[in-house]
Amino acid sequence: MFSVTVLGATGSIGQSTLDVLSQHPDKYSIFALTGCRQLQKLAQQSVQQGAKYAVVSDESSAKQLCELIADLKGSTEVIFGENALSEVASNNQVDIVMAAIVGAAGLLPTLSAVESGKKVLLANKESLVMAGSIFMSAVKQNGATLLPIDSEHNAIFQCLPHNYSNKELSVKKLILSASGGPFRTWDEEKIANATPAQACVHPNWSMGRKISVDSASMMNKGLECIEAKWLFDTSMDKIDVLIHPQSIVHSLVQYVDGSVLAQLGNPDMRTPIAHGLAWPERLVSGVEDLNLSEIAQLSFENPDLDKFPCLQLAYNAAKQGGDAPAVLNAANEIAVKAFLDEKVRFSAIAKIVEKTLESFDFYEPESIAAVQDSDNRARVLAETVAKRLGF
Ligand code: NAD
Ligand code: MG
Repeated sequence: MFSVTVLGATGSIGQSTLDVLSQHPDKYSIFALTGCRQLQKLAQQSVQQGAKYAVVSDESSAKQLCELIADLKGSTEVIFGENALSEVASNNQVDIVMAAIVGAAGLLPTLSAVESGKKVLLANKESLVMAGSIFMSAVKQNGATLLPIDSEHNAIFQCLPHNYSNKELSVKKLILSASGGPFRTWDEEKIANATPAQACVHPNWSMGRKISVDSASMMNKGLECIEAKWLFDTSMDKIDVLIHPQSIVHSLVQYVDGSVLAQLGNPDMRTPIAHGLAWPERLVSGVEDLNLSEIAQLSFENPDLDKFPCLQLAYNAAKQGGDAPAVLNAANEIAVKAFLDEKVRFSAIAKIVEKTLESFDFYEPESIAAVQDSDNRARVLAETVAKRLGF
């Protein structure tokens, strides 16, 4: 039996994780589930899964959650606050941590899991974007097992041999596929005025609102290039992006001998989740078999950097290094929130990120406190830019 903590259990990845886990009650038990606002859902999940602990952000949510759990006759203990998140991620009864909180809020608890040497299933790409160097050193120092859950990185992980000594010499490119999002075929003017509802309807994947907007702006792919750089210890010029609207080929690895290995599957996050849970074994996930003759056509094209400037901004921040990716990420989180709150237009997202990056003198943050300082300063600046841009 493996004991599992799911950080961000109420979200899209969290729910898919519980779906896979509940198909294998003989193999996995739940130690803790965490959530933020959806208390009813968290109460139901905690009771159904028999979680020992449920974690929320503040005292008043904790009180409400206790009552909801009592109504359901559950026995889950409720705790709250940032320390509680880190505690359930690092507790010595826990074997596996699913890191599925969205955004910078995921950094500290995910790092706690890494520092206590857990098997960490990483969905929260923002923590690697913000603090890749510190994060990956912590993985090495503490003997943590880091398994990528982002579908592209999970695909690349599956296409790389597990123990290879001369990766630098044998791998030519990591090719990340991208669906192109809901605005792939729209013209620039239409994209500029897109609404939150339009941005959140992804053609192939059902996801949380923040990552859905990131997919529409293609910032998601930019964040993923940075994520790939750290996960696979490579340089940005070895990472390519390929638009593939059907989202069947999840990513590819090109070798020096001309071989290209790809991982395919239906667009359903339960596949990478089951892969991460069971690795190096395999586990039934509940995902339908892939039917290639029914899909019939797979197509590929290059990304349009003029139509999707966020991708270029992310490449630039990655090349710049230091705290530039953390600044990019923080400014993007502010911009996406402003867009979802209908305070700025879709086209303002890239502008807010660009203007914030322009005002920064970058440096190499040597601690998490330094990363958080850059993150905080970027947020303040991005807020100001967002207010100035308005509608
Ligand atoms: P979501 O919005 O559906 O869920 C986010 C979860 O984080 C929720 O449980 C929420 O309660 C929690 N949360 C939000 N703010 C918090 C805070 N301040 N403190 C504590 N908890 C907080 O998001 P999602 O789509 O499940 O994505 C989660 C992560 O996985 C993101 O980093 C995303 O980029 C990544 N990811 C998601 C998908 C996908 O298909 N959804 C695919 C690849 C990667
Ligand atoms: Mg992805």
